[in-house]
Amino acid sequence: ATPMSIMTATGRGAQAGVLIKNAEALERFEKVDTLIVDKTGTLTEGKPRLIAVLPEPGHDEAEVLRLAATLEKGSEHPLAEAIVTGALERGIGLGDTTEFDAVTGKGVQGRVDGHAVALGNLRLVADLGLEAAGLTATADARRDQGETVMFVVLDGAVAGLVAVADPVKETTPAALKALHDLGFRIIMATGDNERTARAVAGKLGIDEIRADVLPQDKARIIRELQEQGRSVAMAGDGVNDAPALAQADVGIAMGTGADVAIESAGFTLVQGNLDGIVRARRLARATMRNIR
Ligand code: ADP
Ligand code: MG
Repeated sequence: ATPMSIMTATGRGAQAGVLIKNAEALERFEKVDTLIVDKTGTLTEGKPRLIAVLPEPGHDEAEVLRLAATLEKGSEHPLAEAIVTGALERGIGLGDTTEFDAVTGKGVQGRVDGHAVALGNLRLVADLGLEAAGLTATADARRDQGETVMFVVLDGAVAGLVAVADPVKETTPAALKALHDLGFRIIMATGDNERTARAVAGKLGIDEIRADVLPQDKARIIRELQEQGRSVAMAGDGVNDAPALAQADVGIAMGTGADVAIESAGFTLVQGNLDGIVRARRLARATMRNIR
């Protein structure tokens, strides 16, 4: 590519809300055939809200929420914010946590007012040697609505679940349709549960879902696709997404996301929505056509 045409493209990209790191990113993007999108914060608003607290028999709803929210004070995860805010909005006073530990891709644990408390997905529950059998049907019903379910464990037994919802961004359906029309195969990768992932992906025309993915697995999924000869772009917003953004042929960060994601990416979508990818693709095509 000539320096001039790249400069023009970079300038036009910036006007269209796409920051292009370098000429290589633009060149590689023209060849991309597969687009991996993170769910939370990329397809969705990334601002989940607490929807329901469902205690197991013998446990109190407000107490289950108090334990969960007390633990989450120590976490920076968007799910944590939803739970803390939900508790405060319901007038629940929080306790104190000691021995706090965040378990990446699974949840959080620690001691609240002296009791052993954990909060997270089924993986975390299983790591503790427990099951959430009594809550399975309830959990599935919430997930079928696209909600994310987390289990609260108190002193070695599941005490209830909390459900949060994170709405799909207004711009997502049209952007995904346009990307599909441009010929991309679209794969959603998420640390969230398969059922929740399916419910969210349902109306969006997503070709494939990879759910229950641990953060380190996103980069591996990309590497495997590359080994199969695919040229892969990855769109994500989180700290967790940085290795995958770096592994991808083109990493695409949400401008609204974590700094480390932006640093790892070839493109940054200033407005934080996928419309920018449609514009970037047109720009890449036009620029490369000019050069050849
Ligand atoms: P994503 O790919 O959707 O950003 P993460 O890898 O961050 O997901 O988390 C995957 C799952 O682990 C979440 O859906 C949730 O069930 C659980 N989890 C992670 N962090 C927390 C937390 N701070 N509190 C409760 N659950 C958590
Ligand atoms: Mg995310």
